[in-house]
Amino acid sequence: MRPEAAAGEEHGRPMRARTLIESFRFAFAGVAYAFRTQRNVRVHVLAAAAVTLLAWAVGLKGVELAVLVLAIGAVLAAELLNTAVETVVDLVTPAYHPLAAVAKNVAAGGVLVVACAAAVIGYIVFVPYLPPLLAALSSGGLAAALALAQAAPRKVMAVDMASEGPFGLSEAEVDKLVAAAREARERAYAPYSGFLVGAALMGESGEIFTGCNMENASYGATICAERVALGSAVAHGQRAFRALAVVTDVDDPAPPCGICRQTLSEFAPDMPVILANLKGKRRVVALAELIPGVFHLPSREG
Ligand SMILES: [Zn+2]
Repeated sequence: MRPEAAAGEEHGRPMRARTLIESFRFAFAGVAYAFRTQRNVRVHVLAAAAVTLLAWAVGLKGVELAVLVLAIGAVLAAELLNTAVETVVDLVTPAYHPLAAVAKNVAAGGVLVVACAAAVIGYIVFVPYLPPLLAALSSGGLAAALALAQAAPRKVMAVDMASEGPFGLSEAEVDKLVAAAREARERAYAPYSGFLVGAALMGESGEIFTGCNMENASYGATICAERVALGSAVAHGQRAFRALAVVTDVDDPAPPCGICRQTLSEFAPDMPVILANLKGKRRVVALAELIPGVFHLPSREG
């Protein structure tokens, strides 16, 4: 069976794009042809649409979104090239030929390789988002609230947490937050104490805001990593937080100072605080546990 003619094709004359608009038109005609005639192309377009919808649902942005777009584009481009190879092979060898089969199989193999890589990319990108999403759908905030109430009096090792551990945070989210704090620590400005601190705050949306300590020759002008992170988050419009991670280089990971505890309490009094060091030791405490009897401005009424 002869494939249907694509736009711009004329028998007996080589097809050549004359203008820029024409070459775009031919390219679109090629995409449309592949979509119309190839079932695999339609399946991949459908998968791309589903993945795009999921990316929008979890609020994917930045590098993660860019990598996903690249993966989708690579799979669709591979499908189009595969269609091109198949069409050329059919043109050259309409009857069965072992080499024709080899060419078609190798082209199909190329698509398979790209599709597998895209699947792995999708898994890596989406996995950190899925546990909280599924938890929110299945049990609402109640389970997280109960876990928080139970875990607050104890100092829990985050490394022992199950995939959905205490505080409603997944292990992947804890890892991501600690890694962000660790990276921020590298940028700390602490020439006077030499004590580098990194902090990372996870907003309600899952977005992470980082901070490092910033010392000053006038010692009292020094600002802690936690408050730098908080200030950055508030400046970006984020006022509700799911967790804080603080990374220091001491055997017993250091907690936030009193001023920071008070400042953080203003926005997220019940949030879990993950204390970590560079050797991988971690413990989790509730902020409310770190600052009992937090100060509230008394009402001026009466
Ligand atoms: Zn502090």
